[in-house]
Amino acid sequence: MISPTLDDFLKLAEQGNLIPVTCRILADIETPLSAYRKIRGQGESFLFESVEGGEHLGRYSFVGCNPRAVIKQTGGRVEVIENGKVVEQFEVSPETGRDALPRVQADQQVGPAAIAGKRQSMTQTYVPRFMRAGRRLLPGTRANRLRQNGAGWIVEATHRSVGGLRVAADALFLCAGAVQTAALLRRSGLRSNIGNSLQVHPTVKIVARFDDRVNAADMGVPVHQVKEFAPRLSFGCSISSPAYLALGLIDHPAAARETARTWPHLAVYYAMITSEGRGTVRGLPGFRDPLVRYALTENDRRNLADGLKKLAQILFAAGAGELFPTLARGPVLHGPGCLSKLPETLPVGVANLMTIHLFSSCPMGEDLGKCATDSFGRVHGFKNLFVNDASLLCTAPGVNPQGSIMALARRNALRFLGKT
Ligand SMILES: Cc1cc2nc3c(=O)[nH]c(=O)nc-3n(C[C@H](O)[C@H](O)[C@H](O)COP(=O)(O)OP(=O)(O)OC[C@H]3O[C@@H](n4cnc5c(N)ncnc54)[C@H](O)[C@@H]3O)c2cc1C
Repeated sequence: MISPTLDDFLKLAEQGNLIPVTCRILADIETPLSAYRKIRGQGESFLFESVEGGEHLGRYSFVGCNPRAVIKQTGGRVEVIENGKVVEQFEVSPETGRDALPRVQADQQVGPAAIAGKRQSMTQTYVPRFMRAGRRLLPGTRANRLRQNGAGWIVEATHRSVGGLRVAADALFLCAGAVQTAALLRRSGLRSNIGNSLQVHPTVKIVARFDDRVNAADMGVPVHQVKEFAPRLSFGCSISSPAYLALGLIDHPAAARETARTWPHLAVYYAMITSEGRGTVRGLPGFRDPLVRYALTENDRRNLADGLKKLAQILFAAGAGELFPTLARGPVLHGPGCLSKLPETLPVGVANLMTIHLFSSCPMGEDLGKCATDSFGRVHGFKNLFVNDASLLCTAPGVNPQGSIMALARRNALRFLGKT
């Protein structure tokens, strides 16, 4: 059976230009490999087998042939090939290639998990390319309000040293993050489905003390995570510099005072949930920044408490001697026997929650009753105003989001440039 039907296909084709068509076939005697051999043809093709736990075969196999494009990396040189022709090429520095995967050093000084390697920021990747292409960057500039200017837009902004300035644009892309993009649009009088559906990954933390040294001055952002319970719960290590440790110990003032001495033995760990809750972004007269509100559901609070307990179990299993959860007047845990001191549901007003993942304040889609922008970030009702950041995600993904946000932004930019 082919899905969608022709009628449904024609309806969907009015909304977008990429419509997956699937066909269900009974194939009792096929194996993934035999299907691959039948399908692959002469050109480029692939067979991906999903594997669970490193040993067991998973449920899915993905077979593909006749790719629309091939991305080929040789050393630092990357080529995008379409119809046999190179349509884009660029260099990547060796750190972004396979050789640059962070290596775990067996360094006695800093414990078992010190990470060597280099994180690449925009200042080393996109920004130099942008400047080389002759574009202009205005750092230290805050966009305050947007105004329509004939067929285009004026951005009223404040520059750190110049003061007030106005930037005229034929087309405008807003990428100020899920809170500030929504706030800027609302301040500018655009409010339809904007700032009503903020989603976050609510997070609780524990500072753990180990007998071994587990922290180092140059540790940066540690990358070990536990994904067994994802997407409901994710666990990992956070930035653990002395300042962050002191912040993490705000509910345990005596331990916080000691961090200047004890920090090499301490690290901050988090438990993050995929939440059912929703939040709002609203302007406040007289204030520069908006008011952000977020309502956790009962289920969210149960999941956060479960996350805190499981995180404590993981840390004791990893050899921690003492745990300081971010609960106001919360207990210090000295061993697995203390886990019953943690609440079954996170009490209202007592937990010190935080988040670094915010989304969905301007969700994309074709439903004018729910979505702020179309499926490619163009604000509904406007020809040349786009949102292109985490605000577009329709829901919280339950995983680290940055790769998806960047891929989405690139897709929308290519569409705007007429390259898709
Ligand atoms: C400490 C921390 C660690 C993280 N670690 C990870 C990780 O390891 N992996 C991962 O996948 N994700 C991580 N994230 C999340 C990830 O960084 C965000 O999800 C992602 O950057 C969001 O992208 P964005 O484009 O929506 O917004 P942002 O990256 O926040 O970009 C918004 C930009 O707009 C600017 N801006 C805001 N308002 C205005 C205004 N009015 N005028 C002009 N400019 C403005 C801001 O200064 C900022 O530069 C982390 C986040 C934090 C805070």
